[in-house]
Amino acid sequence: MIVFGTRIRAKVIGEGRFFCPHCQAQRSYWRKRATRYFALYFVPVFPLGQLGEFVECQTCHRAFEPAVLERKFSASKPGRTEDLAQMLNTLAERVVAGAPVEYLVRDLTAAGLERDLAVELVNKHLSAGQKQCAECGLSYSTAATVCAVCGKPL
Ligand SMILES: [Zn+2]
Ligand SMILES: [Zn+2]
Repeated sequence: MIVFGTRIRAKVIGEGRFFCPHCQAQRSYWRKRATRYFALYFVPVFPLGQLGEFVECQTCHRAFEPAVLERKFSASKPGRTEDLAQMLNTLAERVVAGAPVEYLVRDLTAAGLERDLAVELVNKHLSAGQKQCAECGLSYSTAATVCAVCGKPL
């Protein structure tokens, strides 16, 4: 009896750095193309058709639409994504150090992040709650003791 069927193989067609939506960080990715093969005894023999391309994070191994490479960034200037990565990596420190929440969101959106996502990321570091400066209305993490803008105790 001859055993035949189809197998799907993914071939790496490119790689680079991207902002992985799952890791929430800059990661290396593989761009892969999936092809369906006619297989004889489970060995791929010839391609039957392209199934499309996807992007795989080398860290979490999740697959994403190729559009993920353009997403989250305005991608207008080279170097922008590095600024943003730097900002994301130091976000927790800045929140604890007492940077106003509104300023953090502004900096993140200025670096190319969508506003909703910026708010969401900053809020992640405010799980213990937040307080507001009575003087200027800016928001801070509960770890902050003085308003960074007007100097009033919080
Ligand atoms: Zn990932
Ligand atoms: Zn203030």
